[in-house]
Amino acid sequence: MTQTPGQTAHNLADYRPYPFVLTATRMTFDLQPKATRVRTALSLAPREAGMDLVLDGGKEVELLSLTIDGKAPDPAHVLRRDETLTIAAAALPPHPFLLETDVRIDPSANTAFEGLYISNGMFCTQCEAEGFRHITFYPDRPDVMATFHVTLDSDLPVLLSNGNPVGQSQGRAEWHDPWPKPAYLFALVAGDLVAVSDSFTTRSGRRVALNVWVRPGDQDRAGFAMESLIKSMKWDEDVYGREYDLDVFNIVAVDDFNMGAMENKGLNIFNSKLVLASPETATDTDYERIEAVIAHEYFHNWTGNRITCRDWFQLCLKEGLTVFRDQQFTSDMRSAAVKRIEDVQALRSRQFREDQGPLAHPPRPDQYEEINNFYTATVYEKGAEVIGMLKRLVGDDGYRRALDLYFDRHDGDAATIEDWLKVFEDATGRDLAQFKRWYTDAGTPRLTMAEDWQEAEAGGTLTLAFTQETPPTPGQPEKLPRVIPIAVGLIGPNGDELAPTQVLEMTGASQSFTFDRLGARPVVSALRGFSAPVMLSRQLDDATRAFLLAHDTDPFARWEAGRELALSALTAASQGKAAGGDYVDAIGRLIADGTADPAFRALCLNLPGEEEIATRLSSGGITPDPDAIHAAREALARQIAETHLDLLSDLYDAMAVDGPYRPDASDAARRSLRNAVLALLTRIDGGERAEILFGIAGNMTERMAALTALLRRGRGQAELAALRDQFADNRLVMDKWFAVQPMAAPPAQAAQVARSLSQRKDFDWKNPNRFRALIGGLSANHAGFHAADGSGYDFTADWLLRMDPVNPQIAARMSTAFETWTRYDAGRRAKALAALERIAAAEGLSKNTREMVSRMIA
Ligand code: ZN
Repeated sequence: MTQTPGQTAHNLADYRPYPFVLTATRMTFDLQPKATRVRTALSLAPREAGMDLVLDGGKEVELLSLTIDGKAPDPAHVLRRDETLTIAAAALPPHPFLLETDVRIDPSANTAFEGLYISNGMFCTQCEAEGFRHITFYPDRPDVMATFHVTLDSDLPVLLSNGNPVGQSQGRAEWHDPWPKPAYLFALVAGDLVAVSDSFTTRSGRRVALNVWVRPGDQDRAGFAMESLIKSMKWDEDVYGREYDLDVFNIVAVDDFNMGAMENKGLNIFNSKLVLASPETATDTDYERIEAVIAHEYFHNWTGNRITCRDWFQLCLKEGLTVFRDQQFTSDMRSAAVKRIEDVQALRSRQFREDQGPLAHPPRPDQYEEINNFYTATVYEKGAEVIGMLKRLVGDDGYRRALDLYFDRHDGDAATIEDWLKVFEDATGRDLAQFKRWYTDAGTPRLTMAEDWQEAEAGGTLTLAFTQETPPTPGQPEKLPRVIPIAVGLIGPNGDELAPTQVLEMTGASQSFTFDRLGARPVVSALRGFSAPVMLSRQLDDATRAFLLAHDTDPFARWEAGRELALSALTAASQGKAAGGDYVDAIGRLIADGTADPAFRALCLNLPGEEEIATRLSSGGITPDPDAIHAAREALARQIAETHLDLLSDLYDAMAVDGPYRPDASDAARRSLRNAVLALLTRIDGGERAEILFGIAGNMTERMAALTALLRRGRGQAELAALRDQFADNRLVMDKWFAVQPMAAPPAQAAQVARSLSQRKDFDWKNPNRFRALIGGLSANHAGFHAADGSGYDFTADWLLRMDPVNPQIAARMSTAFETWTRYDAGRRAKALAALERIAAAEGLSKNTREMVSRMIA
């Protein structure tokens, strides 16, 4: 990536080891909201002679004193710049020394929520990626690892940091973390908190104290997080042989948090929406996400903390692997088939979209200006897909051996993608030079498959001819072929599986595979399990797709056949062509099939989203028309509802779940099918069922489904008011309340709905969740955000400009609403560009947002 080599660009090729070794860090915090004192002692040793010591330190860190081995250096040897503090080599001893600093910071002024800040009266930190430099002067880079000894002074009752507690007295707590770690894994929390507590005994018999810390009053919503933690600890022992390594594991829920959660050693800090859940306030989807994110952060203890990244270019080393692990965990806890389909849907809607536009980058980028802009679907989700492909290529045994070797060889290291691939090569004997392109190249390969069938006496021969091509992405106009594992199965005309799944390894730009001695021409089930993150195109008629939807034994491929049918109907209709019949018939047969898993039927019944249809059209070189897409999707939904009205109303009644709410996969599956049916029926019954369900449902899953269905039909005002009255004091429910309105509004009104909500007093926009709810709610309404009059663009730009000086990370992240702007018609493009240029022209725009906007308009 070389598209925006600004002055502040960081390049992978420039990596140099830090010239000093840091062995131990001792810190004392005197926690005061407006003036916190931080005293830090660093045990340093020069690696080579004559090097200046450069420490990172944000502008707002005020240096009060500095000594080396107890003595203040000559001030002429100390240079403070905006973002660094340099001590000249001349002031440093040639042997190990102790550097002590005393600084003052103001957590109360920290609205960016990076470093030490205050959320609802509670002190907390977020240091990944480069937040620690806002706390004190430090070599804030992941390859500098030290043990930490931390003393916290505060009147607040609960004082937490990393590692094990080593002392507690009135107004003071001491923590020691014996595992050397980079500064980004540092954390502290101080507040008036209560814990839900439990314990876990590791397989070697060590007892670990577990706590989930929340604000008083929230305890009864923290139990599910604790259950999820215990399951995660057990799973990582059973599946990866990884045991926990401290005496305590603390999780803290925080209301103001830029991201989802953070894996600080022994002290995970979570966005409260990923901890707190009760049936009345959280949906099934929330429960599933909580379970997955608790697992994700816990799994980082090995993949991220024990083995960390050498530099931030290697971010996917820990994130791709940890996402892959949390996906495996969820498949084991719930339904593997459903999880795989959900993950593919998420990948397509977020990562393929990213790959298609100006923000495309490889899982391992080689240049960035602001690393916080690279916590992306490509680094996380595609990073996980790449590991899935590796596993498919080397097999389960090979994967296990490679991972064991990785943990053995690199425990305690700050590692690279090269190290990661090397363990696979050494453990399996495979050459991964070509495979590495998945890490270094951006873009989604287009894979085409053509079939040729030759009859012969001894049996027919089927030839599958594949070609691959990856479109240009910023800075990468041309790309070489990649290794693509293509899982294929053959199905006989009667629906029986003729050949079980086998993985074809494609390495060339075009390549053929033959199957001979076949009795009759089979139907090919291709890319089973979504064996590679590519866009597959093949000539297939709707009847064959319907056949696969009925007979494929691979659940992903079966779902995909239905998806393709739906997409073919929708893309045709959105270009004004008649279509839909085959899909409507096939879906009727599927929903009537009582033997099929309800979750699977729900996934098939949920039509592709408008965003996905737009991505599909655009990858085929067609300019998507958001209004036509919306209309086509609505028409198809209506057609399904009308055609299958009786079937759907029976199913709606049959899928009702009796008894108390349980968040487990089987009850959630029934609710998801029932809610998908409700969305269709609401188009016919005038909202009658949805209104009843909203009134009687005791759980948020059904209430939100009912409310959404009503809002999409322009109804639901009474339900909105009821929800607000009941939950005005519950931030997480009110976030849903803010999000659903612009999201489900009829497109022509969406921007206006968002604008009037933004004028409410309870639109607490400096809270990242609230901001994301409203601004993200609008951008989730495809035709609303892309309204032809530019109202969606203008509204979003107004708020990005307002947020940027307060919290640049959030502004930059939400700017991705614009990442697809180039694919629309000239009228929309002009309006989107004007909005982006207005942002770019703002005085004092953050480095974060500047990088995003300039990549988008490059
Ligand atoms: Zn992570």
